[in-house]
Amino acid sequence: MEFEPVIGLEVHAQLKTDSKIFCSCSTRFGSEPNSQTCPVCTGMPGVLPVLNTRVVEFAIKLAITTGSKIAKKSIFARKNYFYPDLPKAYQISQYEEPFCSGGHIEIQANGGWKIINLTRIHLEEDAGKLLHPEDNDTHGKTKIDFNRCGVPLIEIVTEPVITSPNEAYLYLTKLKQLLVYLEICDGNMEEGSLRCDANISIMEKGSEKLGVKTEIKNLNSFRGVEKALEYEFERQKGLILNGEKIIQETLLWDANKNIAIPMRSKEEAHDYRYFPDPDLVPLWIDEKWIDKIKSQIPELPKDKKLRFIKQYGLSDYNAEILTTTKELANYFEETVKYCKDFIKASNWIITEVLKILNEKKIEINDFNVSSKNLGTMLKMIEDGIISGKIAKEVFEYMTLTGKSAEEITKEKGLIQITDLEQISKTIDVVLKQNHNEVLAYIDGKEKLFGFFVGQVMKATKGKANPKIVNEELRKKLNSLK
Ligand code: ADP
Ligand code: MG
Ligand code: ZN
Repeated sequence: MEFEPVIGLEVHAQLKTDSKIFCSCSTRFGSEPNSQTCPVCTGMPGVLPVLNTRVVEFAIKLAITTGSKIAKKSIFARKNYFYPDLPKAYQISQYEEPFCSGGHIEIQANGGWKIINLTRIHLEEDAGKLLHPEDNDTHGKTKIDFNRCGVPLIEIVTEPVITSPNEAYLYLTKLKQLLVYLEICDGNMEEGSLRCDANISIMEKGSEKLGVKTEIKNLNSFRGVEKALEYEFERQKGLILNGEKIIQETLLWDANKNIAIPMRSKEEAHDYRYFPDPDLVPLWIDEKWIDKIKSQIPELPKDKKLRFIKQYGLSDYNAEILTTTKELANYFEETVKYCKDFIKASNWIITEVLKILNEKKIEINDFNVSSKNLGTMLKMIEDGIISGKIAKEVFEYMTLTGKSAEEITKEKGLIQITDLEQISKTIDVVLKQNHNEVLAYIDGKEKLFGFFVGQVMKATKGKANPKIVNEELRKKLNSLK
């Protein structure tokens, strides 16, 4: 029997608004615990929540770009449960009449595009945060930070159509890219702005019947999601092959031990006693509002990528990488304003620039070589002022000092030697010093040509223009034959 996984993901994304979803408390991350709370978000009796319009606008943006059907009317519901991080003992969410349904996100897998269908996108509020400090003064007690209560979230739920852990990874990457492009979520997983619960079942290859699923929580990186799903796929397969049954349950991923630990048997919707929140009116969204927001949507990653391929002649691969973020794409477009060879510029950014960003763990906006400085340096290669090899050296100084290529080449005397006379003289010296090799060359050992080029370059500390060196050298050696 051959099995394949069936995966559905539920992602909670924190919307990047300044204030919370139903009150005016700040959403800023990292503030003093419980400094950003009020009677509304802590659920005091008699308060009235008021919906933040920005939250809805952000959600509409995502709905438009994923092609989800926005409901004219949606309802906020109370999802009741008791937990210390939830002072109201209910979370305001959406249940039967969500914000929107359907839609899709495209991923690039196995050399083609695959459509991941969405079930729904809905709005809800976040709960607080429990801290379990290990210091002495708390004596094993738990602390609660309510700053997060009422922070706006959208939940994006996929259909069970993802068919491998890697596809789940690719989907999450694309979703995050979209959210960040739209500037509606900062995508920061460490700060909890993006969280994912992964549902997985297995079935025999080719079957249509869904198996019993488990849900994995506590996933704090996209690679972690992939790993956890691989683990759970193997575990379920083992159970089935052993003749055992899968029980529907929630598991907690332990990223240190790479195992999933059972947390609780799965709760059902009726356990939450959902009912419409009597304090909130239905949310009505008209076409005019949608159209207005449509006009504010920026160029999306896929369109940008296709444009880069067409406009700059980039490969699919280069265009994909350069459009990973809007900032990187802008950097490329700014760079090529100063030089002509778009492909070379794209390669430079992908190999040299990204290498440094990875090493330093910084973003392109924090990189101290400006697009103008990079573009101007590339232009100097194009104009034969510096060689490609010298350029690497120049670039290294640029990254260290933030200075321009012109300044550095002047300071370090790195300008390429294009002076014919100077090169010619150097060649003469090299040929004289390597008399035996010259004789061997004349005798037919043509391979030595490269050796001579190398010697000339060495004598000029790599600064001679290679093209001129080649031409001159050939002329001189031919005349000796
Ligand atoms: P629940 O009520 O348990 O939260 P939902 O029907 O809301 O379940 O689905 C939650 C997520 O689980 C969705 O992403 C959905 O695609 C996925 N899912 C549902 N059934 C299965 C299944 N049999 N196997 C894998 N994933 C599933
Ligand atoms: Mg669910
Ligand atoms: Zn508040």
